[in-house]
This record gives sequence, structure tokens and C-alpha cells, in this order.
Amino acid sequence: MSRIFSGIQPSGELHIGNYLGAVKNWAQLQHQFESIFCIVDYHAIIGQYDPESLRQRRKDMAISLLSAGLDPNVCSLFVQSHVPEHTELAWIFNTITPLGELERQTQFKEKSQRQESVVAGLLNYPVLQAADILLYRADLVPVGEDQVQHLELSRVVSRRWNALFGHQTGRTNDDGSQEREEYFPEPKPLLTPTRRIMGLDGQAKMSKSMGNTIGLLEPTEAIWAKLRPAVTDPKRIRRTDPGTPEVCNIYHLHKAFSPPATVEHVATQCSTAGWGCIDCKKVLAESMETELVPIRRRAAELANKPKEIDEALAAGADHCRAIARETMKDVRDRMGF
Ligand code: SF4
Repeated sequence: MSRIFSGIQPSGELHIGNYLGAVKNWAQLQHQFESIFCIVDYHAIIGQYDPESLRQRRKDMAISLLSAGLDPNVCSLFVQSHVPEHTELAWIFNTITPLGELERQTQFKEKSQRQESVVAGLLNYPVLQAADILLYRADLVPVGEDQVQHLELSRVVSRRWNALFGHQTGRTNDDGSQEREEYFPEPKPLLTPTRRIMGLDGQAKMSKSMGNTIGLLEPTEAIWAKLRPAVTDPKRIRRTDPGTPEVCNIYHLHKAFSPPATVEHVATQCSTAGWGCIDCKKVLAESMETELVPIRRRAAELANKPKEIDEALAAGADHCRAIARETMKDVRDRMGF
């Protein structure tokens, strides 16, 4: 069975963008693949942060993930810092990754431009990402279309390390060089079916830093308070103006939460000005309730059982540590340690 790996930052409670764009898919994939999901707290310390808040955000993320459908009896869910081999392998990969390759990464270029003093961790972040994935020799990484390029560096690192340190197979390549084993697989993207979810401002991807999110566990009234003023088709100014559903973020949320017949009804009502945007949003709020109420219920139960969360994470870490140790044993052996 192919193995998948994916990580998520401990940003606290999930928002519906993370849920629809990643975690809902993970909950299905866990039944099709050997699945490893990681709360990547080493990634979350680049830049200033409060240690106490990190602890809380890590716990809140675990509650969100478990209540959103990750089943610790089916997949492995763990915290990155509980498996220190991640940073050991990252150091090793740092030694074979050219500086120029890291400086060319889009995320580094964007983020470093906004900072006066850039820490080395920001530059080396993708190397740790490569270590996260390759430590488990994962075959597939579930990603959205906009993240496919992030995976490329992991593929390059895998190829480079194999070419330098993989055992010789005894066969010869076409160019006369000795063929080496592909110890690390080149991880392939497994595309997430849901398109990326825009924020309520309709301007940018839903993200906590943009303040345009709906929390997965927010109560009904709070969700409605955010949905009511949310941006719709900007050309639909009066109630009598027909709208274009495809350009409206509310329509895309319907596609994620409402049954197909409702989505069809929304498209008709919108394009014929059969109803107003508030009517449309009320129907969306109902569809969201149907999906989110059971998740909120599970989260409330889990919040009262901290031992259960700790045990699930500990079991995940035990399982992953065993795989990680095995990989590091092979890596050290091949590298002369
Ligand atoms: S009716 Fe619905 S889909 Fe159409 S513009 Fe308004 S909120 Fe968007």
C-alpha cells in the first residue's frame, strides 16, 4: 500500500479553508493509503512566537484534526517535535542543497522581502519539509494545485541524495556510471479535489493572517455574523440584478457544503435574480450547519478528554519514530557515520 505524508502548522483551530482544502480529503485518504499526518511545530517557530501559545495551538490543532475525521486507529497523527529525526535528516539534506536553489524558492523571496532581518530558518524551511516527507519515504503527498511546486525541492533532494549515497546496484547506467539504488522515492503530488477556498473578503486565499476566515468550530451565530456581510458577485448591486455564480465565493462554498440539487438551485436563482444574496447565504448557513454540527460536537467531547488526545498523539509518534529510526539507520550507514 502506498504511503502518504502531509503536514499542517499548529495554527490553533482549523478554519474552513484548511478543512475543505486539505483535512476533509485526508479523512478520506486515510482509508485508501497508509497515512501519516504531522502537526509541524518545528516549522512554526520561524519568527517570533510565544511558547505557551504554541503549546495551546498545537493542542487546538489536534482537537480540530481529530474532530474533522482523522481517526488515530486508521492513520498516524503526531507532533513533529516528538520525532527528533526530522531535524537530523534536515541537517543532512542542508549539506547537499545549493544555496541558490533555496534562494529561488518563491515563498522565501516573498517573505524575506517583507523582513528587515531574515533568519536562516526561513531559507532552510523547504529542506525541513523535504526531510518531513522523505523520513517516511512517502510515495505521495496530498497537495492543492498551488503547492505542487513546493514538492519539487523534495524530489530534487531525493534524487541528489540517492545519486550520492544510494548503494551501488552493480548495474551500469547508459552514460557508463554506476547505477545506484533509489533509496528515497521521489514523492509525487496527490492533487486535492477541492479548489482553494477564498476568504470572506473574496480577495485572497482564506488565511488567518488575512483575518478572512470562518473557524471550523465557530458557533452558528458567529458564522452567520461573518457570512452576512461576506463579499458576493460585485456586479450584483441591486436585488433585481442577475448574478454570475462562478465569480461568487458564496457559490463556491455552496459547492463545498450543499448537496448537488441545492447547488443547481443556487445557480438558477442567482443568474435569474430569483432571490437575494441574503437568501442564498441563509441556505449556505444551513448546509454548513449540517456538516459542522457533528464536528463541533466531537470537538467539545475531545476538549474534555485531554488524555485521549495525548494518547492518540503519543501512539502516532511511537509508530512514526520507529519508521524514522529505521530510515536514519540506513542513512547513517550509507553516509559513513
Ligand atoms: S445569489 Fe448567491 S451566488 Fe449569487 S451573487 Fe448572491 S451570494 Fe453569490
